[in-house]
Amino acid sequence: MGKKPFGICRLCGEYGKMSYEHIPPKSAFNDQHVVFQTMQDMLVGKSHSKFRQGIGKYSLCEKCNNSTGGYYGEAYASWARQGMEWLDKFGENPRFSVPFYIKPLNVVKQILVMTVAMSSEKTLFYHEELRRFLLNKEQRYLPPKYNVHIYFTRVGEPRFASDMVVVNVGKGGSYIEAEISLPPFGYCISKPVRGMNSLAAEQGLIDITWFARFEYNDWTRIWLSIPIRETVEPFPLDYRSQQEVDKHYQSTGIVKRERRKK
Ligand SMILES: [Zn+2]
Repeated sequence: MGKKPFGICRLCGEYGKMSYEHIPPKSAFNDQHVVFQTMQDMLVGKSHSKFRQGIGKYSLCEKCNNSTGGYYGEAYASWARQGMEWLDKFGENPRFSVPFYIKPLNVVKQILVMTVAMSSEKTLFYHEELRRFLLNKEQRYLPPKYNVHIYFTRVGEPRFASDMVVVNVGKGGSYIEAEISLPPFGYCISKPVRGMNSLAAEQGLIDITWFARFEYNDWTRIWLSIPIRETVEPFPLDYRSQQEVDKHYQSTGIVKRERRKK
């Protein structure tokens, strides 16, 4: 979780006292005690992280936390509520086209605030254009190196991964800025490796990058056909079911840790 009260704000770039940024926002079903293995945990050999009041990170200054929360938070919470209602109605039914009544620009900007908030201080310069885009609430059209893909999620663990490259020979390759998954939605913010197919698209996730064409605060009714995916392992773009994962570990002879009870 990286508790660190002082640091560089991932949005404005100033050094100061950090505030806890909920990723996703607290008002979007992220106010519970959660225990799971993040990608970072896996890389350093830790079995899990505990998030006492919802998943997040000390990565934004108080001012940026409040201003972006004010700009985009409410629209995002409404989007998440609608997603949860659809997911409850679906049951096990995998795929429907369903309507949402939302503010698309506000929603996609909140998703990108989450992306920047997950990033490390080292990537501050890399995200400069995106940071400016997010601090100016009216600005439309995403910098081209970011594509936002989404899915519904209800089975598996939360997913919290950032700053990786995933290449699947024969299928494609993507730079992953972030993958964040907590019911009802999972997000993959990525761009294809040059000359390769987008793995997010290959996995059947749907692209909502075009949400950034709308005006700030514009309400719109849109229809989306969002696939459901399982997130069992911490790896980005891995949607194997529990059964498939178990089978894989059996075949490799690796004894996988017991799944934790929540
Ligand atoms: Zn700031």
